[in-house]
Formats: sequence, C-alpha cells, structure tokens
Amino acid sequence: MSIAVESPGLSETQRQIVELARDFARTKIAPFAAEWDRTKRFPRDVIAELGKLGFLGMCTPEEWDGMGVDGVTYLLALEEIAAADAAISVSMSIQNAIPTTMLVKHGTPAQKERWLKPLARGELLVGFALSEPEAGSDPASMQAQAVHDAAGWVLNGLKAWATNGGTADLMMIMVRTDAPASRRGAKGISTFIVPTDTPGYRAGKPEDKMGLRASNTATVALEDLHLAPESLLGDEGMGFVYAMEGLDAGRLGIAIQAVAIARRALELSIAYCAERRQFDRPLHDFQAVQFKLADMATRIEAARALAHSAAARKDRGEDVAPYASMAKLFASETAMWVTTQAVQLFGGYGYMRDFPVEKLFRDAKVTEIYEGTSEVQRIVIARGLSGR
Ligand SMILES: Cc1cc2nc3c(=O)[nH]c(=O)nc-3n(C[C@H](O)[C@H](O)[C@H](O)COP(=O)(O)OP(=O)(O)OC[C@H]3O[C@@H](n4cnc5c(N)ncnc54)[C@H](O)[C@@H]3O)c2cc1C
Repeated sequence: MSIAVESPGLSETQRQIVELARDFARTKIAPFAAEWDRTKRFPRDVIAELGKLGFLGMCTPEEWDGMGVDGVTYLLALEEIAAADAAISVSMSIQNAIPTTMLVKHGTPAQKERWLKPLARGELLVGFALSEPEAGSDPASMQAQAVHDAAGWVLNGLKAWATNGGTADLMMIMVRTDAPASRRGAKGISTFIVPTDTPGYRAGKPEDKMGLRASNTATVALEDLHLAPESLLGDEGMGFVYAMEGLDAGRLGIAIQAVAIARRALELSIAYCAERRQFDRPLHDFQAVQFKLADMATRIEAARALAHSAAARKDRGEDVAPYASMAKLFASETAMWVTTQAVQLFGGYGYMRDFPVEKLFRDAKVTEIYEGTSEVQRIVIARGLSGR
C-alpha cells in the first residue's frame, strides 16, 4: 500500500507529469528545503525551473502557452512539489490558481497576450493582494482605493501578508473604486494588474513567519501608484467577485498542499517507527502506534479524495465554492492533526529542528489560516447548504 499517489488509475499523461514533478521535487527541492527554511531564502531560480517545465501554467489553455491540463492532473503535480517543500508549492499554487483564473476568465486578449502568456511560461512571478491589516476574513471591508485621474487610475493604501509581495514581477491587487461616501461593500471593489516596478509600489521587509519560511510574505504599500486604464481587469466594481472565483481554484491548491504535508509526515513516521526501538522492540510493534498510523493514513486518503472530487466538479464547470471549502477545511485540519501525531511519534526528537517533522508541523498551521481560515470555510459551506 502506498501513501503517495501511484500509477494504477492514472492516465498516461498524468503518470508522466507525476513522475516529472516527483523527480524534480526529490532532486531540486527536498535536499535543500531545511536550509531554505533556516535561512529564509526564497529560491527564485528553482521557481524559474518549475516554470520552464510548464508547472506554473498547468491549467492555462495551450493557446496562452499553458499546459492545458485538467484540475486533478494539476493537483497531482502540486502534491509532489508540496511534499518536498510547502514553501515552494505555495508559489506554484498561487501562480496556477488565483491570478491565472482571473486573467483567463476576465482578461482582454491584449492583457492575456501581455501577462497570461509569460505567467504560463513561468517568465514572470505573480502574487495576489486582497487582505489588508484591518480586513482579513472580511476583505470586503478593505480601505485601499483607486481614483480616476486624467491618465487612468491612482492607487493608495496598504495590503497585508501578500505572498510573493516582495519577489513578484506582477501583482493582482484588489482596491475600492467606489466613492468613500457610497461604500458599496464587495460591489465597490475592482482588480488591477500591477507590475511591481511601477513607481509607488513598495513592498515591506519579508515577514518572519512560523512556517513556510522560505516563501516571501510582505506588506505592500501603494503610494500614489499611477496606472493606465488598461490595467483594470474586467469590469469596474467586479473585482471582489473575480477574487472569490480565483479563491475557489486557490483553495483546492491549499487543500492538496495540506495533503502533501500530512503525507510526508506519515511517510517519515512509518520509517521512524520501524527503526526506533523501545522495550526491546520497534515502535511499530505496539498496537497503539499502529492505530495512530492507520488513522493518519485514513484521514490523508479521505482529504486527497475530497480535493480531487472538488477539482473534478470544477472541471465540469460546476459551482465549487462550498466543495473547495470542504476540501481545504478537511485537508488543513488533517495536516495539523497528522503532523501533531508525527511529532508525538518521534518523541523528543520530533521537537528538535534536526528532524523534519518539526518543520512539517510548523508548515501545516498556515493551511488553516490563509486563503480563508477554517472558520471562514465553514461559513462558505453553511452558505452553500442554505442556498445563499
Ligand atoms: C503566510 C501567509 C500568507 C498569506 N498570503 C496572502 C496573499 O497572498 N494574499 C492575501 O490577500 N492574503 C494573504 N494572507 C492573508 C490571509 O488570507 C489572512 O490572514 C486570513 O484571511 C485571515 O485574516 P486575518 O489574519 O486578518 O484574521 P482575522 O480575520 O482577524 O480572524 C481572526 C480569527 O477570527 C476568526 N473569525 C473572523 N471572522 C469570523 C466569523 N465571522 N466567524 C467566526 N470566526 C471568525 C478567524 O477565523 C480567525 O480565527 C496570508 C496570510 C499568511 C499567514
């Protein structure tokens, strides 16, 4: 029995993609992940290599230089990268999901030519800035604003915790475009495509995080940032809707990132319990240990199935908001629970930085927080149940 996804049941294309991703993850990421975590180094060169292999534009249609694969195939590749280092997979997930979904659905042909193609080829790195210091779970209460001027738009405000905020070439930024007096909530928000070398774009210093330490997370200040009219994505006032559509795709990526963290913790736990001896026998001889491992495996398998099922629904064009939330909720709570069990199985060694389950435990936590906390996922699911 394998905890990783194995060949039977995969199409030939999926098998090749999984093998390519697994090989890349094992040779170019896994051996260096602990060092990147310790030094907080964001390996831009490795991200660029992922781009060259096509892994940053997996679901982008081929006419826009993407791989054009289905959602499940994308999740299979993402799982392999995330099992090696969740800090790398978060960039892969964002690039493939939120900004790309928004551009594919709402970009003009000119915007797709200029931005979507280089994003799909991995020549540009992208981020997504919705949250603000005072607007996290309730992003519609954001304050950052764009106003018209003679040449286009002028943006001012502060965005919080933007992944790749200090390393991206391009950011999709949500700001208010309604008048302060009218404040139409979610309906007054628009999305702008912002090259990060635009004067007035200022990223703060990288946040010092508990986990995903190699990933860049930064505050972004928008200071009289001037944009041409063609920087607006889609229709004025629709940016919040576009962001929520992007988040449906994003949450599936975070779900599979959580599955991968949990899977790695279980793989390490199985090996450790076969090796570590107490009371003159390996730990895996104790039934209490066997039951723990069995529960870990069962939850991981269920979490992966939920994520794949939601991705298949998305591929069929269904409204997946509650299903994406179920997948993220269940997988992130599984990752936190499984990594807690793994640290426990490793005992004192599990608490030490020298052993990899400690990093997995730290990396797991954020999957319950970003792209909507577990409480927000429950709100989305409950809304789906009540038909609102
Ligand atoms: C590493 C990292 C990377 C991130 N990357 C990005 C990014 O790229 N782009 C971006 O826009 N944002 C990003 N974020 C921000 C992230 O999406 C927010 O942190 C998250 O949405 C929660 O918002 P908050 O931190 O303001 O918490 P709050 O909204 O202040 O919530 C605090 C607590 O209150 C609970 N709560 C809030 N409202 C309710 C309610 N109605 N019912 C029950 N409980 C509630 C929450 O669940 C949480 O437990 C990132 C965050 C982190 C940590």
